[in-house]
Amino acid sequence: MFDQPDFDEHEALHLFDDAPTGMRCIIALHSTHLGPGAGGCRYWHYPSTGAAITDALRLSRGMSYKNAMAGLAVGGGKAVLLAGGPAKSADLLAALGRAIDSLAGRYVTAEDVGMTPDDMVAIARGTRYVAGLPVATGEVGGSPGPATAEGVFVGMRAGIARALGKSSFDGVHVAIQGVGSVGEGVAHRLAAAGARLTLADIDPARAQVLAKRLGAAVVGADDIMGVEADVFSPNALGAILNPRTIPALRCKLVAGAANNQLETPGDSTRLHARQILYAPDYVLNAGGIINVTAQYLGERDPARVTAQVHGIEQRLAQVFDEAAAENLPPAEVADLTARKLIGRS
Ligand code: NAD
Repeated sequence: MFDQPDFDEHEALHLFDDAPTGMRCIIALHSTHLGPGAGGCRYWHYPSTGAAITDALRLSRGMSYKNAMAGLAVGGGKAVLLAGGPAKSADLLAALGRAIDSLAGRYVTAEDVGMTPDDMVAIARGTRYVAGLPVATGEVGGSPGPATAEGVFVGMRAGIARALGKSSFDGVHVAIQGVGSVGEGVAHRLAAAGARLTLADIDPARAQVLAKRLGAAVVGADDIMGVEADVFSPNALGAILNPRTIPALRCKLVAGAANNQLETPGDSTRLHARQILYAPDYVLNAGGIINVTAQYLGERDPARVTAQVHGIEQRLAQVFDEAAAENLPPAEVADLTARKLIGRS
């Protein structure tokens, strides 16, 4: 395990098996250098435990980098709750809560793919180390999706300034892959700002309904990456930027919320060689963790949290500036900066 590239100096890796409920989860703690390891819990069906561990490790390191770059006083960790066993019940989630609690605050959970604010309430039966609990509209906390979409929108602004020399979205064509919680929010904001949109989702009805409301075009899920557009915005899956897809891209900027978009670090060099500007995913998609961490740390003023989310634009501009000055891919600059912030080099 220690020699696996994805282990990458994790402080700890925990596997929990709760026999009474059948709850099985993995909690990876990459770094607590800046504070408790914070990162959501993913509920997913994996082909093997090994695949689940790899995902937890990759996501957990991503959270260390994301939280450090967002200037948060938390470290990086991630939980993966294994689907495929007993259904996700209140008892199962309480058992997950107890597993989290046994780490005595070194890991704080929140929503990720497959988890809702109501699930966080069930987890809270077993631990107080949980964020993203439901709140009334406009309050700090709750589902991280809207804050993530806001962060992607303002961060994309830094991207179009650098890649297209534009200060407004007016007439800018954005191809969006995935119009779920985050992608839909990004699409609404872009449409309101005057962008032209092409949407795709593996659930075609979802893309069609949204396109009708926003006056957008729709293409099939297999075609979205080849659409000729100013911006490609991935808001669905990870590892979509790889040697097979990068040659087919016809855009100047890639900026979206999906976690771990680069299949391998070398893919950032491939994008750089094609002069496609890549907005490092974890810098761009930090809005949600900024929001739920604020809730966990007791912040009550939504305006202060929004201001923090808007800081993503400036941070990304800084990464782009440093990358341009050193002729390096932005992802490399972001990784180096994040590692320095968490005391690793
Ligand atoms: P979601 O499940 O609400 O939406 C994902 C959407 O993508 C769904 O509509 C799904 O049908 C679609 N999709 C799946 N595979 C697809 C494919 N091959 N082609 C086109 N569409 C496809 O998830 P979300 O919360 O919107 O998150 C989207 C991405 O952003 C994920 O990678 C997630 O890890 C990442 N992310 C989310 C947040 C957040 O706050 N929700 C924060 C940071 C990162």
